[in-house]
Amino acid sequence: TPRSPLSDEQISSPLQVFGQAKKQINKIFVDVQDYVADASERMIDVNKLCPDVINENELKSMLDYRSKVKGICEVLTRDHMKVAFFGRTSNGKSTVVNAMLGEKVLPSGIGHTTNCFLQVEGSQTGEAYLVTEGSNEKQNVESVTHLAHALNYEKQLNEKELVHVYWPKDKCSLLRDDVALVDSPGVDVTPHLDDWIDAHCIDADVFVLVANAESTLMVTEKNFFHKVSTKLSKPNIFILNNRWDASANEPEFLDQVRKQHMERATDFLVKELKVCTPEEAVSRVFFISAKEVLQARVKERSGFPLNSGALADGFGARYLEFEDFERKFEECISKSAIKTKFLNHSQQGKHLVKEMLKIMETIHNRSQEQTHLKMCQKKEFQEKLNFIEQQLISITNQMKMKIHQMVDDVEDKVSKALND
Ligand code: GDP
Repeated sequence: TPRSPLSDEQISSPLQVFGQAKKQINKIFVDVQDYVADASERMIDVNKLCPDVINENELKSMLDYRSKVKGICEVLTRDHMKVAFFGRTSNGKSTVVNAMLGEKVLPSGIGHTTNCFLQVEGSQTGEAYLVTEGSNEKQNVESVTHLAHALNYEKQLNEKELVHVYWPKDKCSLLRDDVALVDSPGVDVTPHLDDWIDAHCIDADVFVLVANAESTLMVTEKNFFHKVSTKLSKPNIFILNNRWDASANEPEFLDQVRKQHMERATDFLVKELKVCTPEEAVSRVFFISAKEVLQARVKERSGFPLNSGALADGFGARYLEFEDFERKFEECISKSAIKTKFLNHSQQGKHLVKEMLKIMETIHNRSQEQTHLKMCQKKEFQEKLNFIEQQLISITNQMKMKIHQMVDDVEDKVSKALND
């Protein structure tokens, strides 16, 4: 049945389109789940009464579909939008993640390097905790220092390992809207790029390359994305030229440096990776200062104005550019996640529903054939009964007549004998 368009409900961020789509597809699958449960129960009942109407294979397939639909429903509730951040160590990946979250969640800076993959996502319980790979244990996280300590000292973490950081959803709209943010160790520290991609990137909807605006794109950074684009068709890549606040120190070179970075980044996306057109590339490359945005947002949360404190020249423009990046990022990730995640589910759903329909039609046709057969048998039987009834009536009538005749005969003979 046609459903109401997404615009029916108030949507203030493109991310909410994903949430709405998730709600709707979930509702459809719950309907399908109810149908398949009801249908399989009826089939079990009918099978007990008339085993020749439904065969065992059909019953087994229906029970199979039932568990498949249940599986899709479970995956659906866990579906989220995933963004992965890459770049060389100290380019500011953790700071970008924190700036987007609006608070210091991940440890960053001197004395800390992210030496494993960290996935920040919304916590269902409202508590902050972390779970390391292969473990179900929820380790409480009270603060960034606590998290840094847990990551650095409590367990020797492998660079390929994924640590889930669950953070209260009410603290950040990205987490509330089902975005998971993955921070990675620097691409310069590993020879295992392929393993990283297979383990953590195959299902990412968006990749963000955090580059250092104070230097040019490095071969290791480019190399990583070349590998990504061999494994994924047209990955969505954003390039953030971070530390753009440094440009405030050299305003005379600002335009020239920006133009140069822009050209190189555009060439990389358009000509080398061939993941977008020159027009699209304009909405994929940004010049930002994650540190400034993070500081401003932390201050704002403590009740101070956004632009309070000592700020380098051009802060306002850089802040706006960061917000522009966030908007483009939200549009891109929401669109991509709906396509990659829900398209797959809806195709699977359509296939299952079609298969179920085929089985139901076969059963329906078979039951009609059998009803028809039984009706014909009944008619034939009825005709036979009528014939026998007719025969009986005529035999009885004949017998009656014969007996009457015999009685008349006997009477005649007796009266004749008496007379004689
Ligand atoms: P990561 O290793 O890529 O995750 O980098 P971090 O986020 O840990 O940042 C490394 C250092 O760079 C930290 O001391 C940050 O405060 C600093 N940093 C990050 N972003 C910026 C920025 O935009 N401008 C400046 N000046 N420093 C930054």
